[in-house]
Amino acid sequence: MEPKSIAFHHFGCKVNFAEASALSRQFKDKGFQLKDFREMADVYVISTCVVTAVAEKKCRAAIRQAHHLNPEAKIAVIGCFPELMPDGLEKMEGVSLVLGHSAKFALCEEVERLFNHSGHEHPVFPASNEFVSSWSLGDRTRSFVKIQDGCDYYCSYCTIPLARGHSRSDTIGNVIRNVEEAVRAGVKEIVLTGVNIGDFGRNTEETFLDLLRELEKVSEIPRIRVSSIEPDLLNDAVIDFIASSKKLMPHFHIPLQSGSARILKLMKRKYDRELFASRIRKICDLLPLACIATDVIVGFPGESEDDFRETYDFIEGLELSYVHVFSYSRRANTIAAGMAEPVQDKIKKQRSGLLHQLSENKKKIFYLKNKGLTAHVLFESDNSNGFMHGFTENYIKVKTKFDPRLVNQITTVNLDVLGEELCYEVLGIGY
Ligand code: SF4
Repeated sequence: MEPKSIAFHHFGCKVNFAEASALSRQFKDKGFQLKDFREMADVYVISTCVVTAVAEKKCRAAIRQAHHLNPEAKIAVIGCFPELMPDGLEKMEGVSLVLGHSAKFALCEEVERLFNHSGHEHPVFPASNEFVSSWSLGDRTRSFVKIQDGCDYYCSYCTIPLARGHSRSDTIGNVIRNVEEAVRAGVKEIVLTGVNIGDFGRNTEETFLDLLRELEKVSEIPRIRVSSIEPDLLNDAVIDFIASSKKLMPHFHIPLQSGSARILKLMKRKYDRELFASRIRKICDLLPLACIATDVIVGFPGESEDDFRETYDFIEGLELSYVHVFSYSRRANTIAAGMAEPVQDKIKKQRSGLLHQLSENKKKIFYLKNKGLTAHVLFESDNSNGFMHGFTENYIKVKTKFDPRLVNQITTVNLDVLGEELCYEVLGIGY
C-alpha cells in the first residue's frame, strides 16, 4: 500500500490533546505521513469537543473544511461529539468513521480497515470505563501527560461525566514510565492532565499527593505543572508539598465557577466560598508570587444581578492572577438544562465583559509584582515574526527575539521591561 497521509485537528481540553497526540504517533509509527490540517491529506481526524454550542459549531466547520480540502478523503470524527450527539454525524459528507471516547483508541486499526475494504461501515464499540494512558509530544518543550479520566462529580451544567464516564486513573508506576519516555524525547516540562486530576487514584488506592511525591524523585525532569484542580481536592497537604518542591511550578488553576453561594449550590459544586478563599490565602502565604488562575461561568440559569455582583466582588477581593470567563451554554441531558430563568444573551455578554476587564486588571497587578525579578523561562520553538515566547515558573509569558539556541532551554531572564503584549522583554540571558 502507498504511504498515506493523515491530518489531525484537535478541539477542547488538554486530555483530548494528549490523546490525539498519542494517536497521531501511532499513525506515524505505521508509516503514515503527518500533515497540517490545512493541507490535502488522505485521512482527516477531528478530535471533538461539545462543551459549549460554539465548540460544537467549530467541530462541524472542521468536518466541512476537511471534506472541502479533499472530497475523496476519509474523515474520522472522534471523542465527545460522537459520544454525546452521534445522530446524523455519519451522514455528514465525507465522514467515514464516528468513534466515541472508548472506541477512538482503535482508530489506527479502523482507518487501516477502511483502506482494506471498500464502503463506509460504522462499527459499534461498547462504552468502556477502562483507563487508556496518553501523553502529548508537540514541539518537545512540554508534554501533557494524562493521569486521570472521567468524573464522578456531576456538576449540574457539565456534560463531561456523560461523555467520559466514571473517574479512573493511571497507576503511579505507569505515569512515571510515560514521563520518563517524554523526557527521553527531549521534553523539559510535564503538565499533569485529566478531567478531575485531584481525584487521582480513586480506583487504585493511590493518591494525587503520592503521585507528586514520586514524580519529585524523577531526577531528569526539571519542571512539572499541575493543570486545573478542583478546590475541594487541592488540600493543605498538596499545597504544602507544591510549595516545598523544587520541580512543581508555583502555578495553580482552581475553578471557581461562581462566587454566589446560591448559584454554587445550584451548580452542585462541592465547596463553598469560604473554602475557596481559604485555598487562595494559603497559597499566597506560602508562595506570594504564585500564578493563581480561575474559571468562572456567567449567566447560569437564575443568576440574578445580585448573584453576579456577589461573584464580581468575591473575585475582586481575592489575590487571583487572572480569570477565564465562560458564558453558560445549555447542554442537553444536564440538570441545568431543565432549570427555569435562563439569562438573556445580552446580559451574559455584559457580565462577561465586566469580568474580562477585572481579569485584565488582576493580570496587570500580578505582572507588576514580578517586575525587576529574576526568573527562569522555558522558551518554545515557534518563530512568530522574528520573536519567540516562553513561560516563567509562575506562568508569565516572556517574549524575546527569536534565537534558535534558546529553543527548549531553561534560560535566566530579568523581568524588567513591560512589553506591549503585557509580557516582559528578556534583558539578561544565562545559558
Ligand atoms: S468537576 Fe464538575 S465541571 Fe469538572 S468535569 Fe466534573 S462534573 Fe464537569
